[in-house]
Amino acid sequence: MAHSKCLACRARVWRDGPPADHLDDLCPGCGGPLEIVGDLSELVGLRSLRARPRGLAYNRPPDLSARISAQIRETIARNDAERRRRIDVERA
Ligand SMILES: [Zn+2]
Repeated sequence: MAHSKCLACRARVWRDGPPADHLDDLCPGCGGPLEIVGDLSELVGLRSLRARPRGLAYNRPPDLSARISAQIRETIARNDAERRRRIDVERA
């Protein structure tokens, strides 16, 4: 786990993987460069811009996006059926 901080936002950011993989990462808050944190005490008082693993984002059901795309497909199918019905009525 790599810890970085953004002094402009006074924010801390967690990333998975070794710090060396994240040297070019930008701040999710302001898009500015992040500073790798060597000592965790540097993080005290900074707000978190990314939840730790098993935080809120990770509690979302994994099938959520599948459910959303199924709903979108249903809506499109319904609209198509409706349009076909209207065309049929106009032709009659
Ligand atoms: Zn920032």
